[in-house]
Parts: sequence; C-alpha cells; structure tokens
Amino acid sequence: MKNMITRYLALLLLPVLFGCSNLPAGAQENDDPRVEKLLARMTLKEKIGQMNQYSVGPNLTGPSGPQDGRYERFMKGEVGSVLNLVGAEETRKLQKLVVENSRLGIPLIFSYDVIHGYKTIFPLPLAESASWDLDLMEKSARVAAQETAASGVHWTFAPMVDVSRDARWGRVMEGSGEDPYLGSLIANARIKGLQGDDLSDVLTIAACAKHFVGYGFAESGKDYNAVNIGRNMLHNVLLPPFKASVESGAATFMNAFNDIDGVPSTANQYILRELLFQKWGYKGVVVSDWNSIGELVNHGVAKDESQASALAVNAGSHIDMEADAYIENLEQLVKDGIVKEEVIDDAVRRILQLKYDLGLFDDPYKYSDVEREKQIVGASEFKDIAREVAAKSIVLLKSENDLLPLSGKGKIGIIGPLAKDKDSPIGNWRAQGESNSAISLYEGIENAFGDAVQLNYAKGCDLSIGPNNFFEELQIEAEDRSGFAKAVQVARSSDVVLIVLGETAYMSGEARSRSEIGLPGLQLELLKAVHKVNKNIVLVLMNGRPLTIPWAAENVPAIVETWHLGSEAGNAIADVLSGKVNPSGKLPMSFPRAVGQAPIYYNKLNTGRPESDMVFYSHHMDVENSPQYPFGHGLSYTTFDYSNLVVAQNQEEVSVSVQVVNAGDHNGEEVVQLYIRDIVASTSRPVLELKGFTKLMIAVGETKKVEFKLTKTDLSFYDRNGDHVFEPGEFNISVGTSSAKLLTQKIEIN
Ligand code: BGC
Repeated sequence: MKNMITRYLALLLLPVLFGCSNLPAGAQENDDPRVEKLLARMTLKEKIGQMNQYSVGPNLTGPSGPQDGRYERFMKGEVGSVLNLVGAEETRKLQKLVVENSRLGIPLIFSYDVIHGYKTIFPLPLAESASWDLDLMEKSARVAAQETAASGVHWTFAPMVDVSRDARWGRVMEGSGEDPYLGSLIANARIKGLQGDDLSDVLTIAACAKHFVGYGFAESGKDYNAVNIGRNMLHNVLLPPFKASVESGAATFMNAFNDIDGVPSTANQYILRELLFQKWGYKGVVVSDWNSIGELVNHGVAKDESQASALAVNAGSHIDMEADAYIENLEQLVKDGIVKEEVIDDAVRRILQLKYDLGLFDDPYKYSDVEREKQIVGASEFKDIAREVAAKSIVLLKSENDLLPLSGKGKIGIIGPLAKDKDSPIGNWRAQGESNSAISLYEGIENAFGDAVQLNYAKGCDLSIGPNNFFEELQIEAEDRSGFAKAVQVARSSDVVLIVLGETAYMSGEARSRSEIGLPGLQLELLKAVHKVNKNIVLVLMNGRPLTIPWAAENVPAIVETWHLGSEAGNAIADVLSGKVNPSGKLPMSFPRAVGQAPIYYNKLNTGRPESDMVFYSHHMDVENSPQYPFGHGLSYTTFDYSNLVVAQNQEEVSVSVQVVNAGDHNGEEVVQLYIRDIVASTSRPVLELKGFTKLMIAVGETKKVEFKLTKTDLSFYDRNGDHVFEPGEFNISVGTSSAKLLTQKIEIN
C-alpha cells in the first residue's frame, strides 16, 4: 500500500520535476491577462477561427459577396486574418462586418505582400541589398510600412530572409543574396524599418521572416523543389538570418513550401518546435505559406487535409493561409484526441497577443483612415528616398575606356528592349505599384541631360510576347530581328551607346526559375550587331537575378547592373551614368560565368581537391573556376587602394585595421569588407566568411583608417549538434574591396 502511494505521488510530481505539463513543447507562457481572459471566453470553433486566414478580393464587401460560405464564416468569427484586401475604406468595411456581427467581435488582421514598396516602389530586395547600406534599407522599409499601414493593412509577409546561391531560382530577387552574415544584418534592418519601436503605431506594420526554412536551396534552382541539405549547412548558412529575425523582434514567421530531407517545413517538428520555439524562445506567430498545409498531401506525408492539419498544427504552424484545412478539420481532431486543445490555445494566444500588440482591440479601425491614406500613400517626398535607394543599389561591374561617367555632350544612342520600358523596373512583387509607372532609362537620361545631348533611340528587338503578368507563363521572343537594322544605324551615328538589356519584371520572382540565365531572346545577338559598328558601349543591365554574360564581360567596355530599381529607376540610373552619384554598390550574390557553375558562391568549402596544377581537382573543364563577378564586387568612378593591414589580439578580441586611400579623381563611397577563414576545425569551414563591413565616404586624396573588432563569438560556428562553438587555432583575417581582392594575415587564437 505504502508503495502504491509513493508511486502515485511520484506520478503527480513528474510533470513538476521534468517540466512536462499539458502545454505543447515550446509553448510560451503568456503574461498578458487580456489574452487569457479572452481565450477563456472562446469556444473551440472560435479559437480555430482565429487560425484561419483567407485571401479576399476587393469585391468581398461589395455586391457579389464572398464565395463558398466564407461570408458566413466572417460573420461567425471563424476567420482571424485576411490577405490581399487593401485600402482604408475596404478594410474598414470588412472589419466592421466582423467586429459587429461575430459573438466576441475579435478584429481581423489585414495582411499583404509588401516586398519592395507598396505604392512607391523601391528596388528589388536583392538590388537594395547591393547597397550594403543598412540605414537606407531600414528607411525604405519604413516608407513601405507607412504606406501599407495607411491603407488599413497591419502585417506584411516580408522580409524574405532565405539565403540563396542559385541564380536559376527566380526568387533570388526577393532576398539578400548568398551570405548569411549580410543577410542577418539586412533582416534586422528591414524588420526594424517595418515594425519601428511600437507595433501599435498606426504607421508601422508587423513583419514576417520567411520562408522557414530552406526554400532558397531548391534543387537545381527550380521553385518549390525538394531541398537536400545537411545540419552543417542548415545551421551555419540557412538559419542565421532567421535567428537574427527572432532577435530583431519579428512578429511573425512563415513556413516554407519545401521539405528538408523529406520532412516538409510546414510539418517540421524539429525546426518549429525544437528550434524556433524551444531553443530560440520565439513567442510570435507562424503562418503557413499559401496552402502549404493542404500541400502536405502532395508531399505524400498526409493522406488527406485532416491528417495534414494535425501534422501542421502539432508541429507549430499557427495560421492556415488559404487551405481551409484548419477550419474544416481541427475541431474534429481535438474531439478525437489527435490534437490537444492546449496546442490550439498556444496558437490562439500568440495570434491574440499580436492583435493586442497592433492595438486592434483598442480600436479595430485605427489603421483604416481615408484621410491619412490620401496624405501618405504615394506622397511625393517618398520619391526622393526611392531615387536615393535606387542609385545606391546600382553596381558598376566593369568600367574601361573612360566611357563613364558620360561626358554629357554629343550623341547618345539608346538601344534595347528595356530602354523605354516603364514597367519592368517596377519589378515582380509590385503590391499597389502601378504598371508602366516607372521612370524609364530613356526618360531619366532626358531629364538629366536635357538638350545638352542628342538622343537617338532604337528598340532593336522585343523581349517577350505577352502575356505579361504575375499569373501566366511568359514566352520569350526569339524570332523577330526586323528592328536590328535601325539599332545598328543608331549605334553607327552615336558617340556612345547605352544598350539596355536583361529581364522583364516577370522573368524573375515566384515560379520564375530559369534553366538558362543568359540574356533572354535575341538580346545577345543585338548586342553583338551593335558592337560590330560601335565599340563605345555601356551595357545597362536590368534583371532580377545574376545573369551569365561572358561575351559582354569580355567585349563590352562598361557594364552597369541596375536590377529592377522601382518607381524612380530611370532617374537613379541617370544619376549614376552622369556622375552625379558615384556608384558604390557591391554584389550580394556572385555572377556565374556559365549556368553549369550554379550554385556558385564565395563562402565555399575548400574540398579535398582545391585548385591545383594537375587535372584532378574540383572544377569544370570548360569554364574558369571563378565566378564572372564575385560576391562583394563593385567598382567606383574612383579607385580605392588598401594597405597596412594590422591584426592584433588580446584575451577578449582581435582588432583589425587597414588604410584605404581614394587614389582616383572622384569622391566616393567604399564598402570595406572583413572576412575570416577558420583554417582547421572539427568540421570543414568555408574558405572565406564575411564577418564585418563598413561603408564610408572617402574624398579624393584622402586616407581613412578603418577598424574592426572580432570577438570569439564572431569566430565561432555551429557544430554538428547545432551548438555555437569557438575552436582555437589558426585563422586568416582578410580585408578588402571584394571577396576576391583582399589583404590577408594569419593569426593563431587560443
Ligand atoms: C509565397 C509567399 C507569399 C504568399 C502570399 C506564396 O505563394 O510563397 O511568399 O507571402 O504566397 O501571397
């Protein structure tokens, strides 16, 4: 008997001793009494309603009404958030419908993809990342947040913090490139810009770090494809920007469509429960990607949406975007004991907390103010910021023969299918940016030079044969050369030719993967035809991903990467071409020489067979082993010379200094980059890792001493258990103007 009592007591004590309670692993205690009070009043169905998100067109509150019983669900409080409805008036109407008709009147959250601007369009995130200017990125995110919030929207699905090294993947345009360190700092800047210090401010919005995790590593760069990565890659390359997002206070996370090693991210207990919630202590909301819960059936890990819902919710996906899976299945799953109500409660607590943090319970309509919307959305002062960011995103890839900056005299030939294009610079994720609303390159040059130069234009060829929109497959034009003759004639009669080539807005982005990443269609042919009659060519590239341009890199004297720069594209390009702004962008992603090199990135492993004189080393036999333009590369109209690298250490840190002189004849900004190499470690470490940078203005003739500090944490890495460890030994410390042009010193650190 005594024995039985002891056993019984021990059983009662177990949860206390080992921390097990009914709470799901990683569930966060909520210390907001308002949340607990409201949760206690909710029925199970109402709770599940908070976890249900619908995409709603602007007609929802209009005469046609919502489809498939969705209207009734709004009325019953069975929808917690909405995506794609914008506008102060429209959001107010739907909010009213829900607040006034549902039993508890819990307000909706309105969300929208604001990826590079809302109305005022900024450069693509990849482009903007080339500025390496964190303050500026924070500023552009702030503008986007202001316009979005003023349109009644509370939450954006940005920033995308997926590291990606494969230019075939169309969504590289949406990220910050190939480096986890740069990516982490950019994530931080963007989240700060979007969220500000106070989520309840009517001019800030909640951010969303996406896509957790691995989406940028789709095999062969094919969107939505399987992802095969090991722990080393996961912890050292893919996770750091997400961890930084947690530390920056990102209010939400989004699942990724992909699996990792056979386990879809949306149902991945390890990355959600163990890592995000338990290890990192994340208290925010995880939203699925569009129908990614339903797609667990396609992945072959669930036989139907009921099983998919159980897997997703138990793993820690709190909101179901558009699958209708939670609202249809969770109630029954709880009744059947497959999902614990505590799991639902954990999700709902987080969602309600977000609503409180946004201030929606104080005033559900506070963001939906028509007057404020009129004042803020598209305000003219935002244009100046867009122009500044755009000019700083431009990367001068090659500059020979003194063609740049342009002299501002004589005859300029402007050639190419993108030269007068007012749409492509608006980019792929254009939110409320109007089609055909960008300043084209042609207009920018006209604005900059007026009558001082004579402009001659020829389109040369088309780039695509419609349809040209977000939803349909694109056809690339490769037949009609009838415009070549005029282009050649323009080139012949010009002092200098600006040829504007690349990709249209919908050649990169979601589902826009490409197996060839050269200049699409007839553009290379056009370039060669023009080059035959005039060698004074400035190739202006507009594109959403690194392209392979080996012929141009060899034969064209000046190449300027302008990406898709947004509303003010043409003016910003003209600012750089005219010399008003000295280019200072640096590539956040390597440009391959050939598509067969993809993925190619600077922070590679040495392998057992690095570069050598004999044939048996890691390389392709038909292309040079380096990228065409490496990570961190970007020229200026001036030259910066580096000298006097000094590396010293004490117990706490390594201090690094270098002298940089502006040895040319233009004032200019330089991004001074610091890299390390951990030469021997318990796992192979990359040949270079970015660990610091600083962007600074250096006047002609001026020398600046640039200093960095590295702590042991900076020199640490994630081991095979996912622990961040410092291993003493030899390190290379390198500083320079790009990942391929560095001064290096070796030190031993114990
Ligand atoms: C994308 C997400 C996006 C969502 C909502 C999905 O297709 O992968 O990044 O936020 O749609 O529009």
